[in-house]
Amino acid sequence: SKEVAGGSYHFYDEKIGKRTIQNVKYENALYRALERDEFTLYYQPQIDYCNNRLFGVEALIRWNHPEEGLVPPDIFIPLAEQTGLIVPIGEWVLREAVFQLEKWHDLGFTDLIMAVNLSAAQFEQGNLHRSVKQVLAETGIRPDHLHLELTENQIMRNTDLAISTMNKLKELGVQLDIDDFGTGYSSLSYLQRFPISTLKIDRTFIRDILHDEDDRALTDTIITMAKNMGLEVIAEGVETVEQADHLVSRNCTLMQGYYFSPPIPARKLESDFLTNK
Ligand code: C2E
Ligand code: CA
Ligand code: CA
Ligand code: CA
Repeated sequence: SKEVAGGSYHFYDEKIGKRTIQNVKYENALYRALERDEFTLYYQPQIDYCNNRLFGVEALIRWNHPEEGLVPPDIFIPLAEQTGLIVPIGEWVLREAVFQLEKWHDLGFTDLIMAVNLSAAQFEQGNLHRSVKQVLAETGIRPDHLHLELTENQIMRNTDLAISTMNKLKELGVQLDIDDFGTGYSSLSYLQRFPISTLKIDRTFIRDILHDEDDRALTDTIITMAKNMGLEVIAEGVETVEQADHLVSRNCTLMQGYYFSPPIPARKLESDFLTNK
């Protein structure tokens, strides 16, 4: 089920039976997936629409199951959370993503930033900042080129712990982004307590932005207040030029979505986006 502020919806109710069988099937395979090297990262471009510039990428994990093919993260991330496997998997993602960023910096794209998703368990586990510090030291990547994405609900679970963990990460110099913003339980004024740099507006608000007045008003409010708080804003799930143009007219120029590119393998990102240096 997916929780949304003001009520909770159970998108998957009718599928629960099916998902449970699937879970049992995947669980054993998931245990071996790391050692069998079955995970890979795709990268989705983050674009500054004003100058049509790639400024960053978000790393998104894919599981190449030997029999089933690509298993989407919405299926195996929750399973990995339940089994605790998300911690070593998340560690792998962090290292793989930062090492990939080092390669791209070495190709001359030295401004590129990398955004990495953190799971709740990874975030609440004591030595996250040590892992982050270590991979930055190993690669020489400047800390502010690494963005770590957290959802509102992740930071609202235990706000004191979240603030102290975030402060430790912030001391390293990495940037903290709030993912899926607008779908959780925090408020913008509350967010001032957290050392964050960017809000990512959830794609459910962008989807109907041209036709739904509530979504448009909410998006406007998020953009305006974020700017007033000195935060960057990225709109997620931009699928059409009309959505992109509307966002620009509202002063939001940083975007991510299928209109620009779906998540793609590293080689394809290089051939499609990293050619002019
Ligand atoms: P997310 O972090 O919100 O990632 C964005 C998701 O939206 C991605 O799905 C992406 O493919 C999809 N998306 C991007 N642009 C568009 C668009 O224009 N339209 C639509 N309809 N969708 C778009 P994906 O890759 O399947 O990932 C789903 C979720 O799985 C992610 O949501 C994130 O919560 C989780 N996830 C993915 N990789 C990782 C990871 O390495 N670690 C952790 N902890 N979670 C991950
Ligand atoms: Ca994300
Ligand atoms: Ca280096
Ligand atoms: Ca998101």
